[in-house]
Amino acid sequence: MIEKLNFNLTLTKDEYLSLIAIKNWRGKDWSDPPNNDIKNIKSEIRRQLDLNQVKCAYCGLKFKDKGDSQIEHIAAKSDAKPTRHPEFTFTLKNLVLACVSCNGFSKKSAQETIANKHQTYSKCTFTIVHPYFDNPDDHYDWVIDLTAVIIQVNNGSLKGAESIRMFGLDSSEMTELRAGQKLLEDLKREMPLSFSKENLLRRILNR
Ligand SMILES: [Zn+2]
Repeated sequence: MIEKLNFNLTLTKDEYLSLIAIKNWRGKDWSDPPNNDIKNIKSEIRRQLDLNQVKCAYCGLKFKDKGDSQIEHIAAKSDAKPTRHPEFTFTLKNLVLACVSCNGFSKKSAQETIANKHQTYSKCTFTIVHPYFDNPDDHYDWVIDLTAVIIQVNNGSLKGAESIRMFGLDSSEMTELRAGQKLLEDLKREMPLSFSKENLLRRILNR
């Protein structure tokens, strides 16, 4: 349903050197790239994420098209508020693709996701189920029927509860969209579907 991300983004030595060369970045908002090197590194990261992710890292719903996905900083990057973490802007394990809905102002936006901060990213503790570090099945439980796939907290997981709250994973819209996606995936496993039939089903199921 929601899957752990099992890939590693990689940068070349030259790309790392470019990042190191611009050392005065700490505290700056990288959304406005200071030079072409940064732009190129960002597009390389986007290329690798596109290759590895067909589903949103947070809600597990398949992207409808490229415009439905955005590079997302798990710990928000801008320094405009104290809850944000510009030093992790290019930390590769802080970067995922998320759908426009999960990444939007009504859901995650720049909400805090770090519970205890450490200067080494992997030693931080997070308030939500981390797409690379956590196994979603440890935090979520699923109740499945034909019209809804309902998400619940597993074993009282606080991270599971916070992700469900932040991304509205238990909304009726989410549970129905998830059921449509599961039905389509089950059908594809059971029978070969032509491209046109699969497209038709996607339209009907809104998936
Ligand atoms: Zn999403």
